[in-house]
Amino acid sequence: MYDVEKIRSDFPILSRQVNGKPLTYLDNGASAQKPQVVIDAINQAYSQEYSNVHRGLHYLSNLATEKYEGVRGIIAKFLNAANEDSIILNSGTTEGINMVAYGWAMPRLQAGDEILLSVMEHHANIVPWHFLRERQGVVIKWVDTAADGSLDPQAVLDAITSKTKLIAMTHCSNVLGTVVDIKTITVGAHARGVPVLVDGSQSAVHMPVDVQDLGCDFFAITGHKLYGPSGSGAIYVHPDRMAEMRPFMGGGDMIREVSKEAVIYNDPPMMFEAGTPGIVQTIGFGVALEYMMELGMDSIAAHEAELRDYAMARLTGLNWINVQGQASGKAAIFSFTMEGAAHAHDISTILDKKGVAVRAGHHCAGPLMDHLGVSATCRASFGAYNTKAEVDTLIDALELAHELFA
Ligand code: PLP
Repeated sequence: MYDVEKIRSDFPILSRQVNGKPLTYLDNGASAQKPQVVIDAINQAYSQEYSNVHRGLHYLSNLATEKYEGVRGIIAKFLNAANEDSIILNSGTTEGINMVAYGWAMPRLQAGDEILLSVMEHHANIVPWHFLRERQGVVIKWVDTAADGSLDPQAVLDAITSKTKLIAMTHCSNVLGTVVDIKTITVGAHARGVPVLVDGSQSAVHMPVDVQDLGCDFFAITGHKLYGPSGSGAIYVHPDRMAEMRPFMGGGDMIREVSKEAVIYNDPPMMFEAGTPGIVQTIGFGVALEYMMELGMDSIAAHEAELRDYAMARLTGLNWINVQGQASGKAAIFSFTMEGAAHAHDISTILDKKGVAVRAGHHCAGPLMDHLGVSATCRASFGAYNTKAEVDTLIDALELAHELFA
């Protein structure tokens, strides 16, 4: 049985007040709060178990290495990867996608080759491909969303040409909450020899992910949205793609031998992990994923589906609110604008006075904002610890904002 009050009690920050009101934290799409087990793990790692990892021959280095390396297996389990060597540890999705852009795509793609993106990508899955466009003439092609915010997988497959070398697509939009049918896309794309990179930053938070079932080539996740520390993350890379990838950054740890004349690289995945990593962040990330798996991803998804349906009904019941993105099966992420003059920033300031934390702006999704014809939206994004009562608090605060701006 999913006990949301018990879960809330695991997150110390949720019992604080903001502006004299109980905190209603609805900015999970940007970053989630941390349970006490993660905070304790960080404290323990720094106060009792800290040392640099790998190479050290002393007790603490071995202990830190064991804890840090143990996270690879936890992530593999979380994503159902067949092998923990398919997991490259990093600082988050931005690093993961840049690594693929520099290490896999840049050496392989030539002028005129095409990369397919959806119009609802986060800048982290757009800007690295613009680098390839600017530097080597790669062409970015865009697939639009339908009016309800859904993305037709067939439209993605129809956009493939003989020049398409990669599909890079979000699994779940950070703005609309739309969930993309990645499996249909990978099956169709692979039949035409096109690999698929998935931005799993949002999806992995809200639903069970099975990279083997999805059949994707790359799957990027970011720790701070998964109730873990910022500066942690990972990317799953299919072994066939891993074999094709060149190191993106050079430095310590990713090498076996260095001489004046030559370098012998470490085996993958270490070959792609240069320099001292985010040791404690990664250890905390592992604890966060174990916490989520203990709650059960199916249970989290079921709880959030209830919240989504309730929030959707209440928000669409306000005829002066426009909810952007109403695709079926979406995640509990709501971007909206208010009729009249109220700017998203002003609305979020009023909500903040009521202790309600939402995000306002373009949400790092410029092409989607253009597609929707808006410059900014307010976004309320829900997580494992949110409640229907918090949906009511959001609605009350919105009614106040509407009165003020009407
Ligand atoms: N992709 C999506 C869909 C996101 O929502 C985010 C974060 O907002 C990112 C990528 C970037 O993640 P990070 O900044 O942790 O690298």
